[in-house]
Amino acid sequence: MTAGNKRFQAVKGTRDLLPLETAVWAAVENVARRVFGLYGFGEIRTPIFEETELFARGVGESSDIVSKEMYSFVDRGGRNLTLRPENTASVVRAYVQHGMHALPQPVKLFYIGPQFRAENVQKGRYRQFHQIGAEWIGAGGTRADVEVIEMLWRFFVELGFADLTVRINTVGDRASRSRFRKELVSYLRPKILELSEDSQRRLLTNPLRILDSKDSRDHAALLGAPDLSDCMSEESVLFFNDVCGQLQNRGIHFVISPKLVRGLDYYTNTVFEIVSEGLGSQNAICGGGAYEGLVEELGGQPTYGVGFAIGEDRLIEVLPEATRAAMTPRGPVLLRALGSSIEVLAATAALAEELRAVGIPALDLGEETPQRTFAHADHRSSPAILILGEDELKTHCVTVRTTADRKQVTVDRSELVAMLSPPFGGAAGKREP
Ligand code: AMP
Repeated sequence: MTAGNKRFQAVKGTRDLLPLETAVWAAVENVARRVFGLYGFGEIRTPIFEETELFARGVGESSDIVSKEMYSFVDRGGRNLTLRPENTASVVRAYVQHGMHALPQPVKLFYIGPQFRAENVQKGRYRQFHQIGAEWIGAGGTRADVEVIEMLWRFFVELGFADLTVRINTVGDRASRSRFRKELVSYLRPKILELSEDSQRRLLTNPLRILDSKDSRDHAALLGAPDLSDCMSEESVLFFNDVCGQLQNRGIHFVISPKLVRGLDYYTNTVFEIVSEGLGSQNAICGGGAYEGLVEELGGQPTYGVGFAIGEDRLIEVLPEATRAAMTPRGPVLLRALGSSIEVLAATAALAEELRAVGIPALDLGEETPQRTFAHADHRSSPAILILGEDELKTHCVTVRTTADRKQVTVDRSELVAMLSPPFGGAAGKREP
C-alpha cells in the first residue's frame, strides 16, 4: 500500500462506539449518576495519565497490572507517565492532594471513564475499556462496606438484572494476610513446577493471587493448601461476620467465596465481585473491596477506604434486552419538502424547528426522493415522515406517513404536535427504566 492510501483502523483492543450504542452508554451512566447521587456520592474526574509511580505504589509493584499491563511512556520533559489502568489510585491521590481529610468524613466520590491496560484482547477484554466506580473514603467500618455493596446492588437492580451473584470474601487485616502469605508460600514452594507459568512467577511476587487463578494446574496444586480463614485474626472474622449479617438483613443475595482474593495489592478485609453467567470466562463485571493502607501509602494519614469498579463494556454486553430496548432512543421525525419552491423549503425548515422547540427530534431532509427518505426512516428508526408541499401550505396541513402501519393521513397543523407526542415519538417517549 502506498503512503497516500493507507486505511487506518482503530488500534487493537480499542474501538469506536457509534451513535445507537453511545445512547445506551449515556443512559447507563445516567442511572449510575442518579443512584450514586441517592447515596450522597459526588462525581470526580481525574486526569487520564498520572505519574507512573502513583500506580506502582497505589496498585502494587507485584500486581499483574503494574508488572505487565501498563501503558507507560516518558514525556518530552523526561517525566515517567502512565495511562491510568484503574481509577482508585488517582481518586485517593486527589483526596490527599486536596486535603479532603479535613472535610467531614466520609468523602464519597464516584467516577466514570476510560482505563488502559495492555492485556490479551479477547471477548469482553479490551486495552481501552471503561469503568464506573465509587470510593468511600474515611469514617469506615462495616457500615461502609455494606452501604457500598447495597448501592451497587441497587444500581444493578435498576438496570433490570435478575441473574447476578455477589461473591464476597475477607482477605483479613494486614497481619492476617501476611501470616497466610507465609503459609501459602511454604506449602506451594515444593510444588512450584506443578503450577502454571504465571503462578510460578506469582509465587515470588503475589502468591495470594494464585488462589484466583483460572488454570486447572493451579487448582490441582492448591488442593490441600492452607485456608485463608485459618490465618484470620479474631477482629477480621468478627468484622466479616458483621458485614455478612448486615447484607442478609438488607436482603442482598451473596455467596461467600473463600478463594476470592482480587488482584490488587491494597485490599484488606472485605473483597467482593459481581458475576454474570452470560459472560463466560470473563464473567466478572464488577470488583471491589476495602483498603486500609492505600491513603497512607499515597502520602495521607491512615484512612479507611472501600470502593468498587464496574466494567462498563461488559456490563453493556450483558444488559437485559428490555433495558437495552428502553434505552435505545427513537429516531427523529423526518420532514420532506415536495418540490423546490423557496416557500415550501422554508416552511419545512420552520416546522422542523417548531417540533424541536417542543422536544420532538426532527430531521429536515429538504427536497429528498421518497426512496432515500424511506432509507433514512429505516436506518434511523423514525416513527414518521412528514410531507409538506404547495397544497399543504395552502390548507395549513401536513401529510403524515407513520412508519409502523405505513398509512398516510393529512392532518391540520394544529393537531400535529399532539399526534407526534409521547408515546408516539416525542423525546419523552422513551425513558430510563
Ligand atoms: P479491576 O480493576 O481489575 O478490579 O476490574 C474491575 C472490572 O473492570 C472487572 O470486573 C471487569 O469487568 C472490568 N475490566 C477489567 N479489565 C478489563 C479489560 N481489559 N477490558 C474490559 N473490562 C475490564
